[in-house]
Amino acid sequence: MAGSGTFSEIIDGDVYKYYVDGQWNKSSSGKSVPIINPTTRKTHYKVQACTQEEVNNVIDSAKKAQKLWAKTPLWKRAELLHKAAAILKENKAPIAECLVKEIAKPAKDAVTEVVRSGDLVSYCAEEGVRILGEGKFLVSDSFPGNDRTKYCLTSKIPLGVVLAIPPFNYPVNLAISKIAPALIAGNSIVLKPPTQGAVAALHMVHCFHLAGFPKGLIGCVTGKGSEIGDFLTMHPGVNCISFTGGDTGISISRKAGMIPLQMELGGKDACIVLEDADLDLAAANIVKGGFSYSGQRCTAVKVVLVMEKVASSLVKKVNEKVAKLTVGPPEDNCDITPVVTESSANFVEGLVKDAKEKKATFCQEYKREGNLIWPLLLDNVRPDMRIAWEEPFGPVLPVIRIKTVEEGIHHCNASNFGLQGCVFTSDINKAIMISDAMETGTVQINSAPARGPDHFPFQGLKDSGIGSQGITNSIHIMTKVKTTVINLPAPSYTMG
Ligand code: NAP
Repeated sequence: MAGSGTFSEIIDGDVYKYYVDGQWNKSSSGKSVPIINPTTRKTHYKVQACTQEEVNNVIDSAKKAQKLWAKTPLWKRAELLHKAAAILKENKAPIAECLVKEIAKPAKDAVTEVVRSGDLVSYCAEEGVRILGEGKFLVSDSFPGNDRTKYCLTSKIPLGVVLAIPPFNYPVNLAISKIAPALIAGNSIVLKPPTQGAVAALHMVHCFHLAGFPKGLIGCVTGKGSEIGDFLTMHPGVNCISFTGGDTGISISRKAGMIPLQMELGGKDACIVLEDADLDLAAANIVKGGFSYSGQRCTAVKVVLVMEKVASSLVKKVNEKVAKLTVGPPEDNCDITPVVTESSANFVEGLVKDAKEKKATFCQEYKREGNLIWPLLLDNVRPDMRIAWEEPFGPVLPVIRIKTVEEGIHHCNASNFGLQGCVFTSDINKAIMISDAMETGTVQINSAPARGPDHFPFQGLKDSGIGSQGITNSIHIMTKVKTTVINLPAPSYTMG
């Protein structure tokens, strides 16, 4: 059970504690933030509403701990990460239970998220040992006009305190994808988990506590982003921000000071289907890509752009699969579960109403009970409809019928997002040309967009992000190059 046994020290009464200087504490605010179960729409958990003074303490403590951690041998850092990974995986059941109750993630997927995160920590430890142990050696005479009097040695040094802010949809995995590279690179971590998902994240932090990381190296503050977010992101003690979420990231990037930013934001991933595509394969990927976790994935298929000639056949195949999706509570492992909050459900409903007024074709009847929205495919969507451009983050998928491939690419590139895209065709040459033309961080050929495998580079263009994720790239972003130059005597100097 969440909060019991191994995890009993992280809760006081019915409120989860925050983590500072290696200890679980109550906030002096005396206030808590409720976490509403999306399925029952009742308060399920509570977390501390941390004060600014507590944020200061967590950052100060992280700053102190980092100094010693930066001098800790890489193999020792890796050893602790491997230990944390094992503890995390041992405790997959109680952590997954939190994901089910806080964010209505289907039970099986919740377990997968925790196990995947443990694997990410281990891979990151291995990768860090390899790449952080390497440096460069440069000689000045490779630059025209210079002699061999200068030798340059480079190495990678940590940045200091990394602030990690993950979103609700993968509160464990997207926290871990920031924490593990930061720690192996010699940084300390201050985590601000999303409110929905905070309790799963606190359990995950406790696994690192049990692994025996130095006091203060990892800190975790809870509270609403709208209340403590600005204070955290503009804090002078923070040396790097790794953020995943929506438009909030754009305002953070404007306010943050001169520090490295890793921003993974929203997307409107397009799926282009050509006339020569395997339509069964395309339909299977569209349904999996568009409706898994009720469409609440950054890389969900968010618009289908299909050539007119094959559009009706594709829509028929997609509808046959949509009819088979199960709808209900996450505990029953349903394909479609309630979206995370009532306001998210209202937002989706707004997009559906707009599409109805503008005469999109409804392939299914629109149905909603509380936060639960039945899967809906909207055909004959046109560019004047909001759903053609906005990210629903819910189980509603628009189909736009296109006359030419260029029209599809134009629609994709006119978006302010540029996360991923995909193309279905049996012609590899066309696929590569389309991939080159799409202004997105990644294009998948004959498969739905996806984040991962976790060591692949992952990045968004335009409003979809700054920098690149993926284990190796994150380690690089969370380090700085340090050079030492050895200057030899001038060439006129004679030896012996
Ligand atoms: P969100 O509303 O932007 O929240 C993300 C995180 O920011 C949460 O932890 C939130 O805390 C915090 N936050 C809110 N206001 C803040 C502020 N002023 N300063 C600092 N932090 C603040 O996003 P979400 O609804 O959780 O997640 C959905 C979005 O994430 C979608 O747009 C999706 O596409 C995107 N996403 C992107 C990727 C990617 O890799 N590109 C992956 C997953 C999701 P509270 O919960 O307390 O408000």
